[in-house]
Amino acid sequence: MVWLGSHLSFSGGYESMGQTALRMGEDTFAFFTRNPRGGKAKAPDGEDAAALETLMAEAHFGPLVAHAPYTMNLCSDKPSVRTFAEDMMADDLRRMAMLPGHFYNFHPGSHVGQGLENGITMITEALNRVISPTMTTTVLLETMAGKGSEVGGSFEELREILDRLDHPEKVGICFDTCHVWDGGYDIVGDPDGVLTAFDAIIGLDKLKAVHFNDSKNPCGSRKDRHEKLGQGCIGEEALKRLLRHPALDGRPFILETPNDEAGYCEEIAVMRQWLAE
Ligand code: FE
Ligand code: FE
Ligand code: ZN
Repeated sequence: MVWLGSHLSFSGGYESMGQTALRMGEDTFAFFTRNPRGGKAKAPDGEDAAALETLMAEAHFGPLVAHAPYTMNLCSDKPSVRTFAEDMMADDLRRMAMLPGHFYNFHPGSHVGQGLENGITMITEALNRVISPTMTTTVLLETMAGKGSEVGGSFEELREILDRLDHPEKVGICFDTCHVWDGGYDIVGDPDGVLTAFDAIIGLDKLKAVHFNDSKNPCGSRKDRHEKLGQGCIGEEALKRLLRHPALDGRPFILETPNDEAGYCEEIAVMRQWLAE
């Protein structure tokens, strides 16, 4: 079985997100740990987090997939931006400890012309400073579309990051269907081939979560524009196949499609129907 959820607003706090998820037919969800553009996080509230834990246990939720702000760039060419990113991640991970055992997903970064090698070095050095061997959160590197100077647009680049970590057991991958497709992996024509390549290069045991999106653009476009399920270039048939693919079983599937709450509800219902067929 898989768990289904969408991105939810953190504005009402932890328990409120759980209640929203339940109402929407979800058994996992994603949320931004702070304003997606960066900036201050809410003060931690242990009671609220505990209430969410209770709700999730009673409703048999799967692991949550928290998302770091988009602007967090561990391999910026500006030292102040790198430090800010690292401090944000360290702070997010401290707050994630109130919800033990979930996922914290982030975009590896953009090297902005400094070169892939330098980018990977900066990312791994920062991760080695903020990741502790005792933490219960698993940090996820997101597969990227390879837009601009984004690091993580190929499975090899993600492998390279994992290889240089002091605690690789604390780090996994979030497989974003729109990004992988935009990055040039043909999940429509050859999904088995793409997942076999992922397994050979990274290992499917490292694939911890899926961002489930259609794409506005063709394979290899490197654009990163999400689309509603079945309305983009990936299409319903290919998405259905991925949702039901045995290699992706047991993972949380998170919608990041351009939708409001009602739209997400509809897509969750469609996904449940695909799973039941
Ligand atoms: Fe993302
Ligand atoms: Fe994503
Ligand atoms: Zn994206």
